[in-house]
Amino acid sequence: MSAATTRSRTPDRLCAEAVDLARSAAEEAAAPGVVGEHAGLVSEGDRVVTHYFECTELGYRGWRWAVTVARASRAKVVTVDEAVLLPGPDAVLAPEWVPWSERLRPGDMGPGDLLPTDAEDLRLEPGWSGEDEPPPNSAVSDQMADLVEAEDAEVTAGPPGELPLTPPRGTIAAVADELGLRRPRVLSRYGLHTAADRWEEAFGPKTPMAQAAPAPCVSCGFLLRIGGSLGQAFGVCANEFSPADGRVVSLAYGCGGHSEAAVMPKPPRTAPPVIDETRVDPFPLRPAADSGSVPVAEDASTAELGHA
Ligand code: SF4
Repeated sequence: MSAATTRSRTPDRLCAEAVDLARSAAEEAAAPGVVGEHAGLVSEGDRVVTHYFECTELGYRGWRWAVTVARASRAKVVTVDEAVLLPGPDAVLAPEWVPWSERLRPGDMGPGDLLPTDAEDLRLEPGWSGEDEPPPNSAVSDQMADLVEAEDAEVTAGPPGELPLTPPRGTIAAVADELGLRRPRVLSRYGLHTAADRWEEAFGPKTPMAQAAPAPCVSCGFLLRIGGSLGQAFGVCANEFSPADGRVVSLAYGCGGHSEAAVMPKPPRTAPPVIDETRVDPFPLRPAADSGSVPVAEDASTAELGHA
């Protein structure tokens, strides 16, 4: 028997000695030839012991057959309780399952995908206050809950569009609907903060692009201002040559496409020509013999031939 993995409780002697009984139970439960060496035992309680055997089956590295044996008080016969395959401390296991809602990452959503928003989503809060219920087409309305319940019970033939879309007349929801305040929920303070943090990280003043920019977005003509409380700190870039085109940028962000700070360089002025090839320069080959005047070479090639 290998070194036993025992608890502080002393295992029952007869149960601890029932290794062959435990092995035969493991071999009966396992495929032939996959029960390996005895790997220890654990005392589970009074006259209850679990024996472990290595599992030699491919794909189950580190797993062990666990066979629990027991005997009754004052009885000498040991019997088998159960035989199961269990992962050991070094077993190869599948990664822990993560719910889909925690697995999703920004950018994972594709065309046609639906991402339901939890009714308790911290990023959202009611769009208006009052005793009224949300509009019937709201995801948090009772009507929608009834529809979901009905769809759970049986497959409905009609789409959700068959719901009544107009709230009852005279209610706050009806007035809000008429004023255009149709959103049952809007961004909460928490939702605003998380959005601002994300945008600041991507297009904020601490980015390398902003650090090297000639001036911030707040003074750029390509900046579109946005409404709401975040308009005090963010805008939208509308410069097609900027890496932030169409993105929400911090007013302290900036890039080399800034409308005012990046001045177009003037084309360099060319220096005046050193050799003027548009006129003939006098070139004296030899002084005139008689008059001492300087003859003009009418044709340089002729002069050179005559000289030769
Ligand atoms: S062009 Fe550059 S500086 Fe101007 S708004 Fe866009 S990102 Fe800001």
